[in-house]
Amino acid sequence: MSNPAPAPALRDPATLRVLISADRIHQRIAEIGQQIDEDLVGDGPIYLIGILKGSFIFMADLARAIRRSARIEFMGVSSYGRGKSSSGEVRVLKDLDVSIAGADVIIVEDIVDSGITLTYLKSLLETRQPRSLRIATLLDKPERRLRPVEVDYVGFQIPDEFVVGYGLDFAEDYRNLKEVCVLE
Ligand code: 5GP
Repeated sequence: MSNPAPAPALRDPATLRVLISADRIHQRIAEIGQQIDEDLVGDGPIYLIGILKGSFIFMADLARAIRRSARIEFMGVSSYGRGKSSSGEVRVLKDLDVSIAGADVIIVEDIVDSGITLTYLKSLLETRQPRSLRIATLLDKPERRLRPVEVDYVGFQIPDEFVVGYGLDFAEDYRNLKEVCVLE
């Protein structure tokens, strides 16, 4: 059996450029957490629904920035696969195992690009009759939007560049970088 190709060095200065530092990310997430606590006052837990896999680090930090009790769920959808370009279709690979009827729900996404994934997920989850349904994304590339989608909480708007780190990958590498970096 042949060995897999070695992954590129995580901090190769020739290919990675820091776009958003870890400090800026943490500061912004604290603000978003505070905003969510002000906006969503009510009984019962908030359901945070992270979209796998890219949202997992944002999810962990956002959950801890919210004071109200939060329950953590994940959904898996097909998106870019191993390349850089969108297939344009969305498939649910892992659905929720719980009912969200009557609950305050926030979809937690890593990045909104074309808006195709979130448009699909929002209409899917709305059919399950949550009390409220909002979207939080760490990153937003507004220039690339193909479907208009209303995003309630945006960490950072970024230019049309392919980014990795802080949960985001390229072919499964780079997710564990502390910063958001442009892959050049
Ligand atoms: P959309 O459906 O909005 O086009 O795509 C959203 C998904 O595409 C994100 O959840 C993410 O998986 C992927 N994506 C879009 N832009 C980037 C990017 O710059 N870097 C990475 N790593 N993934 C991206």
